Amino acid sequence: MFYWRSTSPAGPPPVELGFTGRSAARGREPYAGLNLGGHVGDDPGDVEANREALAGELGVTRERLLFMDQVHGAEVVEVTGPWAGEPPAADAIVTRRPGLALAVLVADCVPVLLHDDDAGVVGAVHAGRPGLLAGVVPAAVAAMRELGARTLSATVGPSVCGRCYEVPAAMSAAAAAAAPAAAARSWTGTPAIDVAAGVVEQLVAAGARVEWVAGCTRESDDLYSYRRDGRTGRFAGVVVRREVAA
Ligand SMILES: [Zn+2]
Repeated sequence: MFYWRSTSPAGPPPVELGFTGRSAARGREPYAGLNLGGHVGDDPGDVEANREALAGELGVTRERLLFMDQVHGAEVVEVTGPWAGEPPAADAIVTRRPGLALAVLVADCVPVLLHDDDAGVVGAVHAGRPGLLAGVVPAAVAAMRELGARTLSATVGPSVCGRCYEVPAAMSAAAAAAAPAAAARSWTGTPAIDVAAGVVEQLVAAGARVEWVAGCTRESDDLYSYRRDGRTGRFAGVVVRREVAA
């Protein structure tokens, strides 16, 4: 089920971090392999079954696995419990509550998981090219600090790499203006963007300790890639702080 998974050792209570993959024998093409994204054309029943399976794997009930209505903005929402209705339009969610699994959906964009194991604050961020420019990552870090985070760690998941993300020259220049590390060249030497490198630069500037998980979505069949496949599913980055056993 997981492309990469880790338990932060600084607990108790431990913080579970993970990025799902496509290896699970679930669903139908072009979504086969644990598609967790709604609104991408997949059967809603299949998506819900996959979300249920992920919740079970994380040891939380389905209503405590929280997805956002991602809109490529910089809105950060603090979560205190299961959604009362539809998920809010946001690209980052943060919480101080244990036992809430925060999820970000991607298929080339950069999924970022934030955690302060001492303060017990966790967050999930959706950072694509617009999010990099809008500053969703610094906004999420600021929200984490408002909730008490001090020694902040960030786990940056797999995304489309700079060489696979060719764009018009003006678009590449705009990304480089927002974060110089995002400047890149494609496999054929044309202007490109390394969104993840720009995100990492923003995280380091915000004082976070960064762990960067290897992998390019476009180059790995274990991950969903919109650039490679067009119509396809979404994988998730998830973070949850376990509840302390009584
Ligand atoms: Zn690549």
